[in-house]
Amino acid sequence: MTAAMFQTHEVRNQSPPLEGYDAYGADPWLRAAVRRAGVEWIDSAAHNLGAYVGSPEAQHHAMLANQYTPELHTHDRTGMRVDRVDYHPSYHVLMARAFGAGLHSLAWKRDSGGFSGRAALFYLWNQLEQGTSCPVTMTFASVPMLEHAPELQRHWRTRILNDAYDPRPAPVLQKAAVTIGMAMTEKQGGSDLRAVETVAVRDGAAWRLTGHKWFCSAPMSDGFFTLARMKDGVTCFFVPRSLPDGARNCFLIQRLKEKVGNRSNASSEIEYRDTTAYAVGEPGRGIATLINMAHHTRFDIVVAVAAMMRGALNQALHHAQHREAFGKRLIDHPLMANVLADMALEAEAATLLAFRLAQAFDGAKKDAGERELQRALTPIAKYWLCKRVTAVAAEAMECLGGNGYVEESPLARLYREAPLNGIWEGSANVICLDALRALAKSPSAFAALGDEIGKAKDKRLDERVAGVRKLLEDPATAESGARRVLETLAVAMQASLMRRFGDAAAADAFTASRLEDSLRAFGALPLDTAGLGKLAARARLG
Ligand SMILES: Cc1cc2nc3c(=O)[nH]c(=O)nc-3n(C[C@H](O)[C@H](O)[C@H](O)COP(=O)(O)OP(=O)(O)OC[C@H]3O[C@@H](n4cnc5c(N)ncnc54)[C@H](O)[C@@H]3O)c2cc1C
Repeated sequence: MTAAMFQTHEVRNQSPPLEGYDAYGADPWLRAAVRRAGVEWIDSAAHNLGAYVGSPEAQHHAMLANQYTPELHTHDRTGMRVDRVDYHPSYHVLMARAFGAGLHSLAWKRDSGGFSGRAALFYLWNQLEQGTSCPVTMTFASVPMLEHAPELQRHWRTRILNDAYDPRPAPVLQKAAVTIGMAMTEKQGGSDLRAVETVAVRDGAAWRLTGHKWFCSAPMSDGFFTLARMKDGVTCFFVPRSLPDGARNCFLIQRLKEKVGNRSNASSEIEYRDTTAYAVGEPGRGIATLINMAHHTRFDIVVAVAAMMRGALNQALHHAQHREAFGKRLIDHPLMANVLADMALEAEAATLLAFRLAQAFDGAKKDAGERELQRALTPIAKYWLCKRVTAVAAEAMECLGGNGYVEESPLARLYREAPLNGIWEGSANVICLDALRALAKSPSAFAALGDEIGKAKDKRLDERVAGVRKLLEDPATAESGARRVLETLAVAMQASLMRRFGDAAAADAFTASRLEDSLRAFGALPLDTAGLGKLAARARLG
């Protein structure tokens, strides 16, 4: 038999995979964000991680970790409960890399710029794989919780901050590094945490919890911040997975969720039965105590979804540069250039917003204005970028045509991951109401937002802020109009940042399409072909 017998055609006009590049070195927006924040000390780590993110090896691990999903083993062969989740080795490779790079710790280790420097790394990571970002984020966000629990601080803090990954199920003192989760949501009430029914009963210096949690991600973590009810009301507790004597704490993993996306990460239903726990913070103030952790996970979602938009855009641009249709490259077709340029505006504005927020977290330690800004801007950015990321992922997928809609395409994973960000850590409406509360509680928070937007010296933006102020004055309409309030503030902030830090043509196009036009599908920019080409070219990886 000859080779010719097997060959029916020559394979042509398929775009090669986007790999073998440094996702940091090639990204002018990200490098500019790092320079603006004055955190060039992250350069070498960012190049390192960027090269990993762009490597075929890392992309293969990401694919495998999502294809061969975690498996729950509730019992061993003798019938004893083990409550163990087994992951594909690629998941462990990625976890080791993420924790080894300090994605969870860096923000807490630097006197200044830690949040911005870490955001650069987290932005890179989220272009690769998002399932591992969940335990990274929860571990990162657990650090401020330790301030409410000095006893925990003593043994856990150094291990949380260690840039290492140790997946062994063992007591904290036997481990060099640990990961942390959070378990709040119950069947009868998720957003409304006042409905928590898990009961806490005192047992000497510790407590015993009995009840359930309907969602608990990364159940192989070493400890969990959780909520339970005592006589003073809903209180925050810490549940270690292993007890000091080496025995496993009672942490019954009943089921793993069969999720739409986020498949490398296990999310479980758990039960506590006389489970040992330690009280954290004031009795009866559990929700207020845990909100600080949620505030930090929400910040991380902002960075992650901006990165996902960048990742989706990169795939679309790459494909359009290589694929030809009707006699020329896709990118050279004016209508495709419009779609790409429009998505590029969205991704650039998202990136600017995420990194401005990171700077506000950095500034919050010393500057009251920055403190107000990060408090008010976090839910606003979380709400709006989560709404946009799903649209961007779908549009990017469409740019690849049929090749975008198959599991081998990285866009399939991104697309399924996108809506999750709008649900967990506060669903859209809940986030909007949280933002309204922050603005109502502190007039200076609104002033901080207005001042930041006003730096662009654009009358149209100032008018938007004044319009929102008016809307907020009437409590009868403020709640039902909360999405309008948040969208207006988010887009005005993005327009201000684009004006100050983007280029003039991009800022003009953003303002024209997002503030003056009510069209919302991508690819309807009112620009000529040359202008569209320039915008798309600006976004290309260099
Ligand atoms: C993959 C995944 C992993 C998760 N991991 C964890 C975890 O590790 N730990 C954990 O504790 N939880 C976790 N969750 C749970 C998640 O945080 C909740 O699903 C989320 O907070 C929403 O709560 P709920 O599902 O009970 O929805 P509900 O609270 O019932 O909300 C349903 C809808 O009603 C809206 N709504 C609620 N209140 C109002 C209101 N006052 N006004 C207007 N609209 C309102 C919400 O915005 C939402 O759209 C996870 C969820 C998913 C999907």
